[in-house]
Amino acid sequence: MPRYEYRCRPCGSTFELNRPMAESSAPAVCPDGHEDTVKLLSTVAVGGSASAPAPSGGGGGGCCGGGCCG
Ligand SMILES: [Zn+2]
Repeated sequence: MPRYEYRCRPCGSTFELNRPMAESSAPAVCPDGHEDTVKLLSTVAVGGSASAPAPSGGGGGGCCGGGCCG
């Protein structure tokens, strides 16, 4: 089951939940009971990829990864 990471706005802490992918966008309640949480973009341990994909392209270098390429 995928693991999702959330951040609680009221207490500013992050927590993780294991939940079905279908419920990934469902509201998550923090351990302290706050409902004002946001889902973080975290690595989902599904598929078993050994390593992160290397950045491709880059004619000049130093562009991608800096934020200018989105
Ligand atoms: Zn909280």
